[in-house]
Amino acid sequence: MVAGTKKKSKKNAEEKFALERVSAWNYYKGNKRNALMKFSEEYKHFLDKAKIEREAVSEIERLAKKAGFKRMPEKPARGGKYFLEYKNRNIALVVVGKKPPKDGFRIVAAHIDSPRLDLKQIPLYEEEEAGVAMLETHYYGGIKKFQWVNHPMAIHGVICLKNGKTLELSLGEKPDEPVFTVPDIAAHLSRKQSEKKGGKVVEGENLNLICGNMPVDDKDIKKKVKAMILEQLNKRYGIIEEDFVSADLEIVPAEKARDVGFDNSMVGAYGQDDKSCTFAALKAASELKNPEYTSVALFVDKEEIGSEGLTGIKGRFLELIAIKLAGKDYIEALANSKAISADTTGALNPDYKDLYEMKNTARLGYGVVLVKYGGSGGKYYSSEASAEFFAWFRKLVSDNKIPWQTGELGKVDEGGGGTIASYLTDRGIETLDAGPALISLHSPFEIASKADVYSSYELYLAFMKAN
Ligand code: MN
Ligand code: MN
Repeated sequence: MVAGTKKKSKKNAEEKFALERVSAWNYYKGNKRNALMKFSEEYKHFLDKAKIEREAVSEIERLAKKAGFKRMPEKPARGGKYFLEYKNRNIALVVVGKKPPKDGFRIVAAHIDSPRLDLKQIPLYEEEEAGVAMLETHYYGGIKKFQWVNHPMAIHGVICLKNGKTLELSLGEKPDEPVFTVPDIAAHLSRKQSEKKGGKVVEGENLNLICGNMPVDDKDIKKKVKAMILEQLNKRYGIIEEDFVSADLEIVPAEKARDVGFDNSMVGAYGQDDKSCTFAALKAASELKNPEYTSVALFVDKEEIGSEGLTGIKGRFLELIAIKLAGKDYIEALANSKAISADTTGALNPDYKDLYEMKNTARLGYGVVLVKYGGSGGKYYSSEASAEFFAWFRKLVSDNKIPWQTGELGKVDEGGGGTIASYLTDRGIETLDAGPALISLHSPFEIASKADVYSSYELYLAFMKAN
């Protein structure tokens, strides 16, 4: 489904009427491919800078300012480009359009949280017999626990001290900084482990990080390695053990985003669900000028745990933006809006084809995926896009010559997944899911085709511009 590449002279019934599935790379050639590759370099840089939601907010703000966005004033002006933050974990980029706000917005909403390990409230302990200090974690989002062991991990987040100061922490990203790791059982002792079911191979309570091995030289202290860590933490950051209780500390893979493949066609990195859509929406909003409708690129937290809480899409940030733009007409403005739930879906994994229904699954490199419904079982929890609304998008991609495909996560009843789409439709906003398809979703190293991230950006921009 590469719009605009079909030959003009269609001879037979197949050429005339059948659906065509073509690689997006056939469309991205010459200058377009150069632009795509340049975009991908910026994308990898963004992935490295925005591993957690708070960092995504600061990086989006930094890049938005560079693109001319200003903090949203009391009275937003027509044509104005504004950013607005919420609780350090949400941000929106608004480009005010020509039409009155009551006529609705063009919303592209992506999530900036990704599956990971969080530190528990009292994380630090010593395993005396083993001679090491450890950190307890609690996993966040849908992970396959056995994928998160034996991996160099970094600590990101904030620690608020009693004196009112907030420490921002990022440790394990620079080459000279230490990393942390969850140790798995040696292959030599894995007889029992290898007989366990996948979900039990590594259990949640065994996702503990090694964080120290050097004891203090003091015979009166019992937990000598833990004491050394506490001493070091206090010396370096001025923190005491109680400070962990209130902290937001997240453990993420320490590696940088990399090109994958002899042809450098793919990106491998942590957090591409959903930083691929985040970056694509950020770039689209940055390039938008004087649109007809006011456009809102919305970046929210907590999607991976059900969008709960203040900073999930179930919170009220979207209403606060709508009120700033439309005043008392904000409910009508939302109900007249169109939205893209900008999120990733699964691409066909070549080693596990039996999990997919081949006609309806998305392929890596075949363009942005327009998803009519998600959910699981009998389409439960899915906010299916209507025939009319989906067809509006088919015309949009065709008019703008954007390579696209459709897709579903896997075979019926194999599993499933949700997005924030249904929380947008709850507000009366017509919504379609659209974004790149990834391989190894929710793993420490997700794979995206550069062509798919780029065509997602092209779609989001065309959508923001559309009448
Ligand atoms: Mn997602
Ligand atoms: Mn996800």
